[in-house]
Amino acid sequence: MERYSIIPDKNPREIVLLRGSGCRWRQCTFCDYHLDSSTDEAANNLINFAVLDRVTGIYHHLEVINSGSFPELGEACIQKIEQVCQKKDIHLLHFECHYLYRKAIPALRKRFAKIGVELKIKIGVETFDADYRENIMKKGIRQTDPAKIAEDFNECCLLFGLTGQTVSSMRHDIETGLAHFERVCVNIMVPNTTCVMPDTEVIAAFRKEIYPDYIQNPRVDILLENTDFGVGGEEK
Ligand code: SF4
Repeated sequence: MERYSIIPDKNPREIVLLRGSGCRWRQCTFCDYHLDSSTDEAANNLINFAVLDRVTGIYHHLEVINSGSFPELGEACIQKIEQVCQKKDIHLLHFECHYLYRKAIPALRKRFAKIGVELKIKIGVETFDADYRENIMKKGIRQTDPAKIAEDFNECCLLFGLTGQTVSSMRHDIETGLAHFERVCVNIMVPNTTCVMPDTEVIAAFRKEIYPDYIQNPRVDILLENTDFGVGGEEK
């Protein structure tokens, strides 16, 4: 699997897909990313350190994802990320995190601030329709107020292309995300090993009505395929 890439366009940065101990929540009905995990920390470190050694610092800006949340990366891995930031002069670093770990975020921000690195923490909200999110997607975010969800986080991911979503619901999700977060990342559902299938009509409506309005927006990333950031696909 390709685990390193460069995103040269909006918000230029390097990105690494690391392997952690596995998503603690693991209940989202649409997700099988969490299968990229292992409880063997030594084996994870072997993979992760090699990937982190590919970081060049070209943009002084790095995104770390791990098919889960940063607390599922071991302490040795976090230390390695600190070393890479210092060695490659990284000043801006993104991690992803489920809502259930939000209380762990301030300490991590403080830890990296000490070495001159600002953190941007991304949460997978998927939609701000709390009923859909919790009863259909099983996302595990009890909080319904977008402002409160955003308190600990800088960026959010949205998931579109599911049955029941509409042009107006998707537009409302993006606008709510932009109102409460610095940046929004839209993922379009692709077939995976779960029984949740992409809804081709919803995706067609997204491409026609929503995509043209946001593709140039510097605060919005849109991944039509989940490998569009260059990681997660076959190794080059
Ligand atoms: S929290 Fe993220 S990794 Fe975990 S099951 Fe949900 S979408 Fe998948």
